[in-house]
Amino acid sequence: MLPLIKMMLNFIVKEPCTTGRNKLLLISFDGFRWDYDRDVDTPNLDRMAQDGIKATYVTPPYITITSPSHFTLLTGRYIENHGVIHNIWFNTTTQEKKQYYQAQFVDEYWDNGSLPIWITAQRQGLKTGSLHFPATAATYQNERVQVREVESQFYDYTNETDWRVNVDKVMGDWFKTQDLDFVSLYFGEPDQTGHKYGPDSPERRDAVKKVDRTVGYIRDTAQKHGLADRLNIIITADHGMTTVMKGNGINQIILSKIPGFSFRDIKFQLLDYGPNGMLLPKEGMLEKVYNVLKGAHPNLHVYKKEDVPARLHYSNHSRILPLILYADPGYVINGLLPVQTSKGEHGFDNQVLDMKAFFRAVGPDFHKNLVVGPFETVNVYPLMCHLLGIKPEINDGSLDNTRHLIVSGGQQCERKEPDQMSVVIGLAAAAGFLVVVFIIVSSYNVFKRNRTSISLSYKNL
Ligand SMILES: [Zn+2]
Repeated sequence: MLPLIKMMLNFIVKEPCTTGRNKLLLISFDGFRWDYDRDVDTPNLDRMAQDGIKATYVTPPYITITSPSHFTLLTGRYIENHGVIHNIWFNTTTQEKKQYYQAQFVDEYWDNGSLPIWITAQRQGLKTGSLHFPATAATYQNERVQVREVESQFYDYTNETDWRVNVDKVMGDWFKTQDLDFVSLYFGEPDQTGHKYGPDSPERRDAVKKVDRTVGYIRDTAQKHGLADRLNIIITADHGMTTVMKGNGINQIILSKIPGFSFRDIKFQLLDYGPNGMLLPKEGMLEKVYNVLKGAHPNLHVYKKEDVPARLHYSNHSRILPLILYADPGYVINGLLPVQTSKGEHGFDNQVLDMKAFFRAVGPDFHKNLVVGPFETVNVYPLMCHLLGIKPEINDGSLDNTRHLIVSGGQQCERKEPDQMSVVIGLAAAAGFLVVVFIIVSSYNVFKRNRTSISLSYKNL
């Protein structure tokens, strides 16, 4: 009897589960450090936190720069595993380098074993789109994200009017009219302002206000198109930002000034790019260059590729050069001369608090008004696959690290066939239960009638 009732209750009051039928919007605000809302009024981000999830912070992969970190969001893989190891594409033989924008169009740089979530989702029957998100321009195993918009080379990432045009396009045209299931959407701020003016500047605070207004606009637009109750929204970033130390008292890192170091020993170099550097010494020169640089500056870390600390996951890929350099927070690495002018930088060790990014989420599958502890951004990918009800590719994250964010706790609803089966079982259980109730009630009535007739008989005596 008890198992029967339990089965019925299960059928009537279903355990919460993720249907995989809600739409998903992944948004990146480039360089939005985890604590940027602390010194700025952010009513829209605050409201989003009340309506959904706020993580203390999330940890991006090392190196903490744009293209590699965004590809981790899209694949769930550490950088040494997805192979997009830098914003700059390079060829050590021809000495050719392609900067961030041009590198977006080098297919073989991106298409190198790890599939971004759009392709996986499309192969499993979903419709996807991407607007300005790094990795959008490339083709993967002869497939591209179905609906896409790649920005022009000199696109102004700071224009708030354009941001709203893009939001309208994604909500109205892509989600509502074209009925896409998943879209990734990228904004180039507050990164640009953070570099130019530094993370502690009033200009950066203004950029955060702009982001906040846009978050309000995104949610209002979803509401306007009737999407809010079937759209999950994740908002995060690729890295944080820290102030570059300048002035007379600062011992700058300039490789050409290090005694014994010579560019004549170097076949290829990637320097003058924030706090990270990579060197390919000429044949037979590795030990010499390594010994000259190691310990040469108190704020410069020098590793042979194979000795890079395992926690950084930046060692095991053929594209990573034999010598890896990185600087302590506040320092940048210069080659010949101090040519770097940014007041803010990122790229540092991902353990540095200033490199941590923000994370917010809202929607039908997320808990409300819940603050969660930190997690690594490799875990965003398995979470997104779960929300979309698709089977993930091999990745370095785990749903175990984010299942507490979602109402179902990570329980996927059963598929359609088992669902029909459970309807049959449920109905059978209900019918069975009614039969049992009928039998009990009838027996009781018979028993009562018999007792009445007995007592009547006694009276008759
Ligand atoms: Zn970035």
